[in-house]
Amino acid sequence: MAGFFSTPIEYLKGVGPQRAALLNKELGIFNYADLIQHYPYRYEDRTKFYTIRELSEEMSFVQLKGTIKKKELIGGGTKKRLVAHFTDGLDEIELIWFQGINWANEKVRIGVDYIVFGRPAKYGSRFNIAHPEVEPVSETNAKGAGIYPVYSLTEKLRSVYLDSRILLKLVRELLAISKEKFRETLPENIIRKLNLFDKRSALLNIHFPGSYEELSRAQYRLKFEELFYIQLRLLTLKVIRKEKFKGTLFNDTALLTRFYNEHLPFPLTTAQKRVIREIYSDLKSGQQMNRLLQGDVGSGKTIVAFITALIAIGGNTQCALMAPTEILSHQHYNNLKKYADKMDLSIRLLTGSTKKSERNEIHEQLQAGDLKILIGTHALLEEEVRFSNLGLAIIDEQHRFGVAQRSRLWEKNPSVVPHVLVMTATPIPRTLAMTLYGDLDISVIDELPPGRKPIKTIHKFDAHRLEVNGFLRKQLEEGRQLYIVYPLIEESEKLDLKDLMDGYESVCRAFPDVPVSILHGKMKPDAKEFEMKRFIRNETKILVATTVIEVGVDVPNASVMVIENAERFGLSQLHQLRGRVGRGASQSYCILMSDYKLTAEAKTRIETMVRTNDGFEIAETDLKLRGPGDLLGTQQSGVLDLLIADLGKDGKILQTAKEMAAQLLQEDPHLEMPKNRVVKVQVDSMSINSLNWSRIS
Ligand code: ADP
Ligand code: MG
Repeated sequence: MAGFFSTPIEYLKGVGPQRAALLNKELGIFNYADLIQHYPYRYEDRTKFYTIRELSEEMSFVQLKGTIKKKELIGGGTKKRLVAHFTDGLDEIELIWFQGINWANEKVRIGVDYIVFGRPAKYGSRFNIAHPEVEPVSETNAKGAGIYPVYSLTEKLRSVYLDSRILLKLVRELLAISKEKFRETLPENIIRKLNLFDKRSALLNIHFPGSYEELSRAQYRLKFEELFYIQLRLLTLKVIRKEKFKGTLFNDTALLTRFYNEHLPFPLTTAQKRVIREIYSDLKSGQQMNRLLQGDVGSGKTIVAFITALIAIGGNTQCALMAPTEILSHQHYNNLKKYADKMDLSIRLLTGSTKKSERNEIHEQLQAGDLKILIGTHALLEEEVRFSNLGLAIIDEQHRFGVAQRSRLWEKNPSVVPHVLVMTATPIPRTLAMTLYGDLDISVIDELPPGRKPIKTIHKFDAHRLEVNGFLRKQLEEGRQLYIVYPLIEESEKLDLKDLMDGYESVCRAFPDVPVSILHGKMKPDAKEFEMKRFIRNETKILVATTVIEVGVDVPNASVMVIENAERFGLSQLHQLRGRVGRGASQSYCILMSDYKLTAEAKTRIETMVRTNDGFEIAETDLKLRGPGDLLGTQQSGVLDLLIADLGKDGKILQTAKEMAAQLLQEDPHLEMPKNRVVKVQVDSMSINSLNWSRIS
C-alpha cells in the first residue's frame, strides 16, 4: 500500500509533466503523499451566502448568488478592464477584471445564475469585487462551498494560473482515488483513548471539512500524530543512547568537598544546588550524561560548570569547555581560572589566535594528562587536540554550534564517551525545549543570586534623546559605565556599520570628556580584545557596540544598557542584551530607543520588555510572535520542519503526545507488542535520521 503514495505526482489526473515540474520546484510536491500533506494554510467560510445589502468594508471574503445583467469593456492600454454588473435581485455591484480579460469575458455570461466569491471593496458609495471567483450554480455548490481550503502558493505558480482552486481540484481527485489506500498510523488504543479521528477521516477533513468541529478534530489528530512521532523518535534515541553509551562513573567527591569547605565564594542558591544534585546523580549513575543546563543570564551557570568539572577531575579525567566566540572563551577562562588556581588545577585557553608555541605546549600537557581544564572556541575540535582522558565536555551557548560539532567533541575520547553538559542562557520555552532537546535531560536554574535589583526597563522615543543623555551623564557621574548598542543585520552590514559610526561620533560629541570604546564584528580580534579590556578595566566609561557584546560579557560596574533602534531587535535578543547589566549591586537600567513609528509587533516586543524581566515569559511571547523558525538557534534544527503542529500554540497537544510516547516506550521499548504494530511499521518505514516519522509514505 505504501507504494501508492510514492507515485510521482505527474501521474495524477490533471497534472502531467509540465505542472509536475512546477509542483516539484515551487512547492516540493513530488509524489501523492506530498500533495496530501500539503495542508491548507487557512480556510474560508463559504457556508453562508450574503446579500449585497449586507456587505461591509470589514468583510474579507463574501459569497454571493445572482446573475450578470450587463458587461462592458472600459478604457484602453494598461487601463483596460472588464466590468460586469452583478445583481442578487435586490441590489447591484460591479465585478471587475484588470487581467485575464478575454478569458473572463468568455467565461461570464449574461443571464446565467452564478455564485461569486471575493473580497468586497467600497468605491464611493458602492461596492465592487476585483477578480472574483465566478462559478455557475450547480448541484454541488448550490448550498455554498462549505468550509473552503486555501493552499499556499508561490508567485510563480500564480503567474501560470496554477492557483489554490486548481490545487484543490487535484487534492479532491487524489482523495477520491486513494480512498482504499490509507493505512492507520497510530495504535488503536491511543485513538480510542483520545477519541481521535482515524487517519483517513483526518486527511479528508483537513482538506474538506464537513464542519468546524470536524476540522478541529482533523487538526488535532494530525498535530497529535506529528508531535507523537517526534517525541517517540527523541525518546527512542535516548533509550538507544542509554543502552549503548556507558559513561565513566564519578563518585570521588574529595575535590568537591575541599572546594565547598575552603573556597566557595558565596552560598549557592537553591536552584544551583538542585541543578548540581541532578548533574551529580547523572555522573555517578554509570551512564553517560547528556544534560541541558538552562539559566537566564546572570543566574550563575559558571560556578555550576566549575563544580561539575571538579567532579570529573576528581574522577581522574579532564574537562573541556567550548564557547562560541573568543571573547566568551576568554571570559570563561578568566572566571574559571580564579577558582581553578585556588584548587591548584591547571587550566588553559585555546582559540584561533593562540600562538603556535603555546599551542604545542597545550597539546603536550593535554596528552600527558597534566592539563585538567581546557577552555576554548571550536579550535578545540581540531585534529591535533588530543586528550589523555576527556571525561566531561561542557558546551556553552549550544545554539551556535551544530549537533555535528557537539558530537565531534564527544569523539575526543575514543574509549568512553564523555559526559556532556550543554549550557544555554537563551531561555527556551518548554514546548520548544521538549522538541529541540527531547533527547537531553533538562536542568533549569530558575532563580537569580540574592541581592540583585531587578533591571528597570524604559522605552524612549528618539525625540527625547537630550533627556536620555542627561540621565546617562548622571549615571556616569555616579561612577557607572554604560553600553550603547546598535543593530547589526547581516544583509545591510555596511549601513549598520555607518549607523554605528555615526552613533559613536554623536556619543563622543555628547560626552566630550568621557573615554569611549567601540566594538564591532569587522574589527580584528586583538583590536576587539583591546577595546573590551579597556572597558572591563574601567578605563573607558561607555562601550558603543553592535550585538557582538550580546553573549556572556560580564562587567558588574556597567549599569545602563541603551539599545538604539530597539524595534529592529528580536525579543530574545533584546532580553539577552539587557542581561549584560544588572550584574552589580547598583540599580541597573535598560533604555529602549525607537522612532515614533512602530509596527504592532515591534510595539508588543517593546512592551513585553518593559513589563517583565522573566526570560521564560519573554521566550514564550517571542515564540508566539515569530514562530520557532526564527527563534535564536533553531534554524539548524530540522526538527522544526513541521507539517501542521505549531510549537507556539500546541503546547498542550505536545504534552499529551509526550506522555503517550513515554508510556508506550516504557511498556514496549522495542515496539514488539502486537498492539504497537502500526507504530513499528511507521517507524521502520522511516530511517532513524528522518526528521518526521508522522509523514505518510
Ligand atoms: P551566567 O549564568 O550568566 O553565566 P554567571 O555564572 O556569570 O552567570 O554569574 C553571574 C554573576 O553572579 C557572577 O558575578 C557570579 O559570580 C555571581 N553569582 C553566581 N552565583 C551566585 C550566588 N549563589 N550568590 C552570589 N553571587 C553569585
Ligand atoms: Mg555565563
